[in-house]
Amino acid sequence: MSVTEPVVETQRTVEDETLHCVRCGLCLSTCPTYRESLNETESPRARVALVRAIKEGVLDAPDAEYSGAFFRCLLCGACTFTCPSGVAVDRILELTRGEMAGLNLLPEALSALNERIVEYRNISAEANEGRLIWADNLPTPPTGLGKEQAEVVYFVGCVGSFFPRSYKVPQSLAQIFDRAGVDYALMGGAEWCCGYPMFINGEIEKARDLIAHNVEAVRAMGAKKVVTTCPSCFHFWKHSYPAALGADALEGIEVQHATEFLADLLEEGSLPLREMNEKVTYHDPCDLGRKGGVTEAPRRVLRAIPGLELVEMAENRDSSHCCGGGGNLESFAPEVSQAVSRLRIRQAAETDAQTLVSACQQCERTLFNAARAERLRIRVKDITEIVLEALED
Ligand code: SF4
Ligand code: SF4
Repeated sequence: MSVTEPVVETQRTVEDETLHCVRCGLCLSTCPTYRESLNETESPRARVALVRAIKEGVLDAPDAEYSGAFFRCLLCGACTFTCPSGVAVDRILELTRGEMAGLNLLPEALSALNERIVEYRNISAEANEGRLIWADNLPTPPTGLGKEQAEVVYFVGCVGSFFPRSYKVPQSLAQIFDRAGVDYALMGGAEWCCGYPMFINGEIEKARDLIAHNVEAVRAMGAKKVVTTCPSCFHFWKHSYPAALGADALEGIEVQHATEFLADLLEEGSLPLREMNEKVTYHDPCDLGRKGGVTEAPRRVLRAIPGLELVEMAENRDSSHCCGGGGNLESFAPEVSQAVSRLRIRQAAETDAQTLVSACQQCERTLFNAARAERLRIRVKDITEIVLEALED
């Protein structure tokens, strides 16, 4: 079973899925949380065994300690990708989180996050109408501002909208769109959280309300394409929205990550790029690469920039090591999340690249912080920033 299949629906029950585990242990070598702890209870194999033991009545009813095993996980999908028996481990973990939420065993920090999203329609507990504050200090207002109908809708996502250090991602993409003459619109307050954080906190039904609203809002704008800069929004829109609402829910609407859109745009040759003498390495975000199936578009973008040298980390594409920012782990166990980020930035530094490029505002933030914590002289940038720099005269 591929990790790119819809995560809201499953062909096999959780119990069936666990029966396919032969306990070979291969998933241990790729699991970032196990690599940090070297503790079997932190491994994918142990998590699968725990679910099976409960399902078979070998263990008593789940408690908070049991529940924690499923939230100390990045949902990075490395285990599923590695498993020779085809066990969809990340699917088991996602669905078990749902069961834990149903039993009131959701960790407090994650419960609070769900409540914020229900009340404010975003993860930050800020007035949702403030989603376009990042557009205030651009040299000229983006042409997508206030547009009611457009070919393309740019779905900014909660982090890009509300976290000041991530404003540069939507600011860069909007400026690139304007330079290229793209007919795009920004949703502002009509954009609600994509639903992914709530889904991975086990609240599938509440996530469905957000999903239905977003699809309706995009349809009302007459858009043919939704472009996201956030890999989690992309993955959830593309793979889970149709599973949640029905296979034809997105009929006539193409979902693209910004790297796919930019790769096509740059290869058309309509945007002149200046030479950049820089050595970069690219970090594949889990939701975009391994789980979203987009690994080549970002590399096509980087190769389109004259003079830019792209070098690969040992673990790349489907084998990429998580940045530490996945699975809402930062809210639940920040020390584990930070240890994972620090390993990844050391892998980037080993390439001797001057800059680590990613295509995710979460990765950019976690890896930037990790570079500081490790005192490494490597810059961390989002791919939209690099493209904008290459466009500047
Ligand atoms: S790799 Fe697959 S079969 Fe092997 S222990 Fe992990 S989940 Fe089980
Ligand atoms: S999803 Fe990632 S962090 Fe979670 S068990 Fe699998 S490999 Fe480990």
